[in-house]
Amino acid sequence: MSDYIRRNILDMPGYVPGEQPKKGEAVKMNTNENPYRASESVYDAIRRVADEGLSRYPNAVGEAFREAASRVYGLPADWFLCGNGSDDILTILTRAFVPEGGLLRLAYPSYILYRSLAQIQGAASEEVLFNADWSLPGYFGAPPEPESAFHLRPVPGTKLGLVYLPVPNSPSGTVIPKEQILAFAESLPCPLLIDEAYADFADGNCIDLVRKSSKIMISRTLSKAYSLAGLRFGFLIARPETVTELIKVKDSYNCDALSIAAAAAAIGDQAWRAENRRKILATRAVLTQRMRALGFTVPDSQTNFTWNVHPDKSVSHKAIYEYLKAHGYLVRYMVYPGWEKVAGRDDGLRITVGTDGQTEECLDLIEKFLS
Ligand SMILES: *Cc1c(COP(=O)(O)O)cnc(C)c1O
Repeated sequence: MSDYIRRNILDMPGYVPGEQPKKGEAVKMNTNENPYRASESVYDAIRRVADEGLSRYPNAVGEAFREAASRVYGLPADWFLCGNGSDDILTILTRAFVPEGGLLRLAYPSYILYRSLAQIQGAASEEVLFNADWSLPGYFGAPPEPESAFHLRPVPGTKLGLVYLPVPNSPSGTVIPKEQILAFAESLPCPLLIDEAYADFADGNCIDLVRKSSKIMISRTLSKAYSLAGLRFGFLIARPETVTELIKVKDSYNCDALSIAAAAAAIGDQAWRAENRRKILATRAVLTQRMRALGFTVPDSQTNFTWNVHPDKSVSHKAIYEYLKAHGYLVRYMVYPGWEKVAGRDDGLRITVGTDGQTEECLDLIEKFLS
């Protein structure tokens, strides 16, 4: 059968998501899920829709969610496109904007799924290295640029279809200044997607840039800040003329009736979100302080996780990950080949903010390991 599969699929390694242990097997601090239960209104909405039966197709564009989002963000409902997780949104965008044999630009290290999406599309990814302080060089927006700037560099002259930029970024948790993002968009020959998966935990967001520049789009997810990773719901904010075209690309019913109703309820409960954010940010401060006290370099995080690198190379990040795992705590051990030429080390630990108790216990274990 593999004779018939497209070459680019055979050649790609495939995106590997973080480990999902069986329930109760480990404390999950590895995939940036929220440790708290979602707004009760979400479960009520799911029960209500289930009670009505599920024999009918859902609204094809998730109108109930678009209307709820419109009230929250002060933009018309037709500026929103619903997705089966924001990964679905990213897939739709890649299919719509990146030609086969074309090019997708991204910052490195960031979300590795972007590269997989390019590979599925039969396109190349051009990966611009962050600076050591997680700022981005100006040529992220406007080539030409030095060869040393790249982690990956395909054949020059390939058509650039789309640029992905997560703000805040994963794994660093850091943000790029808004003025610089706008300048990138203005100098780019293609659209710019700002992946705001973590913006609910940040000090600001880029939603107003969608009005300022016709090249800017924003993706959001309910997986992190709304405690709904299991629901699979994300959305795009873009100009209505763009949304109209993207609707042609998506699966006809990409979001189901349960998730549309649940997502509308979730986004409608902004009081829940604000309170959850307050808790996560307080715990994040403890996580950051204690990791720094243990000697790790930890950038100020604008997300629900921190990026922890020990400057002493004799301290093995992998050994810490394995020790924590053996003690029932799962964090994310990340390796970014090539990053060492900028940062000195190519790996590190990405730790999701848990409840206060989970976070303290994880920190106690790390402290014990190091002593
Ligand atoms: C978690 C994450 C997503 C995906 O979110 P889903 O809605 O669960 O698909 C997208 N981008 C980044 C940077 C993420 O970390």
